Amino acid sequence: MTKPEKLMIDGKRLDGRGPNELRPIKFKAGVLKRADGSCYLEFGGNKVMAAVYGPREVHPRHLQNASRAIVRYRYNMAAFSVEERKRPGPDRRSIEISKVSREALESVVLEELYPRSAVDIFVEILQADAGTRVAGINAASVALADAGIPMRCLVSACSVGKIDGEVVLDLNKDEDNYGQADLPVAVNQFGEVTLCQMDGHLTEEEFGKALDMAVDGCKKLHEMQKQALVEKYGTMVAQPAEEE
Ligand code: UDP
Repeated sequence: MTKPEKLMIDGKRLDGRGPNELRPIKFKAGVLKRADGSCYLEFGGNKVMAAVYGPREVHPRHLQNASRAIVRYRYNMAAFSVEERKRPGPDRRSIEISKVSREALESVVLEELYPRSAVDIFVEILQADAGTRVAGINAASVALADAGIPMRCLVSACSVGKIDGEVVLDLNKDEDNYGQADLPVAVNQFGEVTLCQMDGHLTEEEFGKALDMAVDGCKKLHEMQKQALVEKYGTMVAQPAEEE
């Protein structure tokens, strides 16, 4: 899309949302048979799969930590996920996103329970429409819970930014491309911020407003994440035991 003249018209964004609205979001927990835990997430135009393995033995062994588990996170964008084919394999961007996403999640994993082991998180971006790192963190958090990894709580994430001089929640691709700022944020249930990056410029006042908006967005995401887990495990609990 060429640069639109305006990104907001009469208080509405080009996709019809108000400044405070998230895109449509759909979580599905436990979709992969061969992973210990998994989650598929549609977040606006983003389509994301997260798979979790572990706790399992660390290879290579010199990476083992004798007192706690290590958490590993691999973010990968499929070649077909973006408009201009993405060259397969890791690059600077995916290595950075893997690092910050791991840090956003590892503070809630009870690593001390599993010395010498690893919890491996794989996030595959199947379709990208801005906000893939926050989508990945939301899906990974549900996949960790689905895998039964002991955690203090879930982590939720969303981005906030500035378009046409206004602070808005959850930027889509055009808003990310042509807007003035983009701020991905992750928050755990205790209100601790575990990810906060920023592209572009915000005044101190705008930054405060943006952070409050992102925290509110994360609260909504947290409810959806819980709902996805209830949908899977609620149904399972309600099923009668099979007769021998
Ligand atoms: N993008 C792309 N090609 C790339 C990397 C990114 O088309 O190689 C697009 C993709 O839609 C992505 C968006 O640019 O979601 C914004 O990327 P950014 O690096 O800001 O990360 P994100 O917002 O996805 O976490």
